[in-house]
Amino acid sequence: MVTDKGRVEANFVVMAGNAYLGNLEPRLAAKAMPCGTQVITTEPLSEAQASRLIPNNYCVEDCNYLLDYFRLTGDRRLIYGGGVVYGARDPDDIERLVVPKLLKTFPQLKGVKIDYRWSGNFLLTLSRLPQFGRLEPNVYYMQGYSGHGVTCTHLAGRLLSEVLKGQAERFDAFAKLPHLPFLGGRRFQVPFSAMGAVYYSLRDKLGV
Ligand SMILES: Cc1cc2nc3c(=O)[nH]c(=O)nc-3n(C[C@H](O)[C@H](O)[C@H](O)COP(=O)(O)OP(=O)(O)OC[C@H]3O[C@@H](n4cnc5c(N)ncnc54)[C@H](O)[C@@H]3O)c2cc1C
Repeated sequence: MVTDKGRVEANFVVMAGNAYLGNLEPRLAAKAMPCGTQVITTEPLSEAQASRLIPNNYCVEDCNYLLDYFRLTGDRRLIYGGGVVYGARDPDDIERLVVPKLLKTFPQLKGVKIDYRWSGNFLLTLSRLPQFGRLEPNVYYMQGYSGHGVTCTHLAGRLLSEVLKGQAERFDAFAKLPHLPFLGGRRFQVPFSAMGAVYYSLRDKLGV
């Protein structure tokens, strides 16, 4: 491979830049859509407040189509995430997006101070399944965990190490899954998905 700054020789290339890869490899960019999601963290809660908030200190994600996810930290802060920005633009005001969601779930936290906020990008696929495959016989890619990569990427790394050592059976089981493009292509996939999301969030609100 020849780059602006030099020449790199390798037996294999693995493309795992996920939502941050941009249009570097158009064949991958066409398969999935970058999305942003936002997280806020409260000030430390009192022991009494925290103990009544989430039974057994579970990590939770709700059952909505546009879901929220939350957990307590070791120092009794509530970390609360939610909201999707199709196309992965950075929102101007993360608190304005996420605090109403937090208060809907936990109205007893009205007035709580937000100490930290951040956003990041993940890569969404139409099927919500990750995409593994080969662009060339020695160029592999793995991407599109659709917001659920924390556990799945560990498996992906294992399968990739197997395939690089010559055992492709388990990698190919994933690689055979169809990689369907979003409706509207690169230009219209964001507005079309946003329109679809309005429909599904209405269903969330109606509890359908
Ligand atoms: C705010 C937020 C909350 C999330 N919460 C959860 C959760 O609760 N549970 C869960 O399972 N998943 C969650 N996810 C999703 C999870 O983080 C991703 O699925 C996972 O990180 C994907 O791993 P990855 O290695 O494929 O990509 P990434 O972790 O995005 O890593 C890609 C790497 O490639 C690098 N890169 C990109 N382009 C280039 C380039 N051209 N050259 C060199 N390097 C490059 C990037 O800098 C980055 O380090 C969340 C994501 C976000 C943003």
